Amino acid sequence: MLDQVGQPRPESVDLSEASGRALFTDVLASHAMPPFASSAMDGYAALPSLAGVPLRVVGESRAGHPFAGELNAGEAIAISTGALAPDGVGVVPIEVVTLDDGVVTPAGPISAGDHVRLPGEDLPMGAVALTAGTVLRPAELSVIAACGYAEVTCAVRPRVSIVVTGDELTSPGSALAVGQIHESNGIGLRGLAEQSGAEVVHKTRCADTREATGQALSDALKRAEIVIASGGVSVGEHDHVRAVLTEDLGVKEVFWRVPLKPGGPTWFGIGPDGQLVFGLPGNPASAFVTYTLFVAPAIRALLGQIPLPNTWPAATAQDLPLRNREQAVRVTLDPRADGPPLAHATGAQGSHRTTSMAGAWGLALLPAGDGTLPAGSIVQVEPLPH
Ligand code: AMP
Ligand code: MG
Repeated sequence: MLDQVGQPRPESVDLSEASGRALFTDVLASHAMPPFASSAMDGYAALPSLAGVPLRVVGESRAGHPFAGELNAGEAIAISTGALAPDGVGVVPIEVVTLDDGVVTPAGPISAGDHVRLPGEDLPMGAVALTAGTVLRPAELSVIAACGYAEVTCAVRPRVSIVVTGDELTSPGSALAVGQIHESNGIGLRGLAEQSGAEVVHKTRCADTREATGQALSDALKRAEIVIASGGVSVGEHDHVRAVLTEDLGVKEVFWRVPLKPGGPTWFGIGPDGQLVFGLPGNPASAFVTYTLFVAPAIRALLGQIPLPNTWPAATAQDLPLRNREQAVRVTLDPRADGPPLAHATGAQGSHRTTSMAGAWGLALLPAGDGTLPAGSIVQVEPLPH
């Protein structure tokens, strides 16, 4: 699937709009950071001198207002945190001096560089501050601002279209007729796609007919680079997604069915214009799991990020039944001082159980096998974004 994903594209984004976006290029320090030698303390700056030697205060260097004169031996200037420190000085903190009639006497000696931050100490000019693919959180936005940039080059957010299928679905907020359920994958998939850094431009629901499914998916293909369908991708007589995509809409099937529980019927294909088309199973836990394991990596790749996440080892908290296919068990993680965290399954794991996703920290990836995986086994956990 990742072989089919195109390259990220750049766009310039105002820093105030860039939260959560992925960097397209490295960000380089446009100047040394900090840009000049400055005091790390409020106190007095002087050339090196011995403890107890009185120094005449000849001026002040405040933040934003450097001392303009010349500083000689036997003299000091008042200095505030962040103010320019003249060449060769050390700073003595205000707490360890006595001041009397314009003369300051430090309790200890002053050496050059005491409490002075050097230019470029954080980043030399031209150094890589952040690498391409980095997701911009508040800390990274601050780094970019500190580098002096008002705009930043981000990867264009891929457009996502979501099509939920099913005659039994009705909107949340409306009463249920017999045989109906409230449609819940749409809001979940929208949130997941947004968390991944994509832009959801279209979301629609369609009935289980070939015509309705065709209309909805054809619309979706026109609007987005990534189409996520939910439901209708299995072998039932009323499952039209695959046939519509491949026979009516020119989408080339790349794979169908994966040895995974939940998520067996997952389908993936490439649209006529290179769209990435995912047919996710309709069961809510299946949709969440397969989004996480298939769609999220594709979006990360399109944003120039490392597509596959780092998994973390954890120890299972209970015996877990193995199956003839891999399993993605939704877990919470309990930290432990003496080993990897304990992974607790979020209750029963039936693929129809919406609550099995709620509160989950990650997916514990169990190998296929026979019998039971005993409590205390080490498994890899794919973290879920939060
Ligand atoms: P399907 O993949 O269409 O065979 O659906 C499998 C199961 O998931 C059925 O029980 C559906 O009612 C349920 N389901 C399908 N789509 C949704 C949805 N959007 N929200 C909640 N449940 C769904
Ligand atoms: Mg269905």
